[in-house]
Amino acid sequence: MNLIFIGAPGSGKGTQAQILSKEFNIETLSTGDLLRKEVEIKSEIGLIAEDLMRQGKLVDDEIVIEMIKKKISSNNSIKGHIFDGFPRNINQAIMLEQMLTNLGKKIDKVINFDVSEEIIIKRISGRISCRECGSVYNKYYNPTAKEGVCDNCGSNDLYQRVDDNEETVKNRLEVFKKSSAPLIDFYAKKNLLVTIDAFKIVSLIFEDIKQALITT
Ligand code: AMP
Repeated sequence: MNLIFIGAPGSGKGTQAQILSKEFNIETLSTGDLLRKEVEIKSEIGLIAEDLMRQGKLVDDEIVIEMIKKKISSNNSIKGHIFDGFPRNINQAIMLEQMLTNLGKKIDKVINFDVSEEIIIKRISGRISCRECGSVYNKYYNPTAKEGVCDNCGSNDLYQRVDDNEETVKNRLEVFKKSSAPLIDFYAKKNLLVTIDAFKIVSLIFEDIKQALITT
């Protein structure tokens, strides 16, 4: 099963991907996470990506496509993927389709996380991530059981992303509207799109996604 999660920053894609990948035993591929790792180790890609990410701009298609290509062709035994934050524009979508076709695979469903800008800003300002395992929490809506400690791996290395500030979030929302929103139409025409009300609480959104995967 190969799924794509589309949604503005802070729409809850990452949180749901985390839960779903455990339940269905499939791998989440988040280009944002992969790029943050490159920035952390100060690789060539990281040095190119760092400024763009800080400003909320998209990193070049060639870079992210190459990262995804490496990941999906490296382990054929994996049952499927959740693509979180990729594709981000039509060009990336076309490239992903080609990559999967070449591997004899396809996209099964595209989940569109629909939520208002007001909620997004609130969610992002409370977002914290685990540097160790990538788990995502929210200080207000989805806190860790013990403050400062990751529920998933026990690490106390929780951090707030540098691009999770109001100014950058506004840019990221603009970029989303311009580059990524056209994907909604693109996948609707292919009959792959399911839109989820991402305003609900985490567990209810998860139920809606499961329902969408079973019934459509
Ligand atoms: P995310 O974690 O998905 O919110 O991504 C954080 C940042 O990484 C974005 O604002 C972009 O700068 C960059 N990024 C992540 N995924 C992509 C992608 N598919 N294409 C281009 N840039 C990306």
